[in-house]
Parts: sequence; C-alpha cells; structure tokens
Amino acid sequence: MPKPPDNPYDLSRFDLDDILGTINEEVRERFGQGEVADHIPDLAGVGKDRFGMALALLDGQVHEVGDSRHRFSIQSMSKVHTLTLALKAVGDELWQRVDREPSGDPFNSLIQLEHENGIPRNPFMNAGALVTADVILSNYDNPEAMLLKFLQERAGDPDIGEDEKLASSERESGYRNIALANFIRSFKNLHNDPDAVLDFYARQCSIGMHCVDLARSVQYLADSGCCPNSGEQVTSAGGAKRINAMMMTAGTYDAAGDFAFYVGLPAKSGVSGGIVAVVPHVMGLCVWYPGLDEKGNSKLGRYALHRFTEITDLSVF
Ligand code: GLN
Repeated sequence: MPKPPDNPYDLSRFDLDDILGTINEEVRERFGQGEVADHIPDLAGVGKDRFGMALALLDGQVHEVGDSRHRFSIQSMSKVHTLTLALKAVGDELWQRVDREPSGDPFNSLIQLEHENGIPRNPFMNAGALVTADVILSNYDNPEAMLLKFLQERAGDPDIGEDEKLASSERESGYRNIALANFIRSFKNLHNDPDAVLDFYARQCSIGMHCVDLARSVQYLADSGCCPNSGEQVTSAGGAKRINAMMMTAGTYDAAGDFAFYVGLPAKSGVSGGIVAVVPHVMGLCVWYPGLDEKGNSKLGRYALHRFTEITDLSVF
C-alpha cells in the first residue's frame, strides 16, 4: 500500500490543473448521459454538452476547467446555505422540527411524513428544506435579500442574483412542493403561510451561480466554519462538522450511500446538475453537468468527483 503523505493538507504534490484537464477530457468523451430535469419547465432547455469544475482552496487559489463560469440555478445546493442560516437563528431547536437521518427516499417524497407526524427526515429533502425556509422567514427581516447577501459574501461575487422567471416557473409547476408545504402545515410544523414558504423556497432554488462561486460558497465548511473570503465565522466548527455530516448522509438523497462509496466527500446536489462538495481543511469544490441519473444527481458530475478523489486520494475515508 502507498505510504500516506506526511502532510495530507499540502497540495503541492499535485498538478491540479493537469488533473482537472484529464477529468474534463474524460467527461467530454461521455457527454449525452443522463436526463435533464423537466419537472420545472425552465430547466428543461439546457444541453448535455456542458461541463464545468472548480476547486477553491483555502489559501485563495482557484483551479477551474470547462464551463466553470457559466451561471446556472443552484436549486437544492441552496439547502446547505439555508440550513446554515436556520441553525444560526435557532440553534439546536431546529432538530425538534427536522430530523437528521438519511431518508432512502427521493428528494421530493411525501411518504415518511405521514408516519413521522410532519417531521421531515433531514433538511436536504424538499420537506426539510421547506421547514428551514419557514425558520428563516420567522427569524430574518427581508429574507430574500439576506440570503443573496450571504451568498455574495461567501463567494465574493456581488453579481449573484435570483432568476425571477425560473422562480415563478417553479412556483407554478411545483405541485409536489405545494402538497408538501400544506401537508407539513397540517401538522403545525410550518408557522408561516405555506404560500410564503413556497415562494421563498422557489426563489432560493432559482439563484444563479457558477462553479467557482459555488466552490467558494462552501469553503466555510472546509475551514471549521470560517469563510476565508470574508474572514467571518459563519458557523461554529461544530456546526460545520454537523452540516458536513448531513451532506455525507443525505446530501445526494437516496444515492448518499453510493456517493460515499464512490466519492467519499460531503456533497450536495441540485437538479440543475450542480454538485458542491467539501474536502475538510483543504477546499470547497463544485462540478456541473446537466444530465441527471435516476436519483436526480448529475451523472457526469458524480463521475468527475469520483475520478477526482480516485486520482488524488482526497476523500474523508
Ligand atoms: N427546486 C427543486 C425542486 O424542488 C430542487 C430539488 C433539487 O434540486 N433536488 O424540485
């Protein structure tokens, strides 16, 4: 077995641009795999000939390849940030309203809620994200502007904004989310009007960012809760540990086991084809390819992350 490096956090042993170049070539040879999400009409038009990847190291270096500056909607990757903000507002009280167990069910499933009295399994399923959205509405003034500012500061990019058209397309066609919000409300686990919660949720999903933005936006989870771009302690070291743990166990829904098996990093996917991931103490990273597998995770995005941890051995295991 090869000897582990003396300092596993020292990346000078790698040529990261060369590694990204190899992964980019391999992914482009496989273009066309997976299906683009069509449950939100405005997502359906994107081609399966786009791939971007970005690594945001804690010392400020960024390595990127392909369509790494193409903006796309962050969808469920926003759930990492809204969980952080909900925890900041109410701390451990959040766990009385959302559990922290993997679900083994699809991201938009209603199935467990009936048996479990309207307490979603985790904050990364849509049901759980609606509860964290509700917590944010109850605890922050002007929550949309606050979330945008949070993301702009994390990524160091003042141009991050919502896509109004995409948000209203999701609001109009999001029948399962409408059902989820009303169902949770019937258990009194939403405190605001379900329409207001659904509106905020659709807006958070519509926010446009690119791979470099997204990689930088999760660096605080690699740096014990401190955002290296702003110097702000965004969450405690313990908070970062817990969010990473939930990304590992539930961030890719009913594929989380497979994801841990192949990639071995805390990660959160979105139906737009992006996946953010964290190498603790080393970097935030993001991949984007719009074709999804049957579990709703980017097919070649997962392939790229798998190859990255295979080549570098930078996994938590
Ligand atoms: N906006 C999407 C939805 O609710 C987010 C889901 C996802 O990215 N997995 O359907």
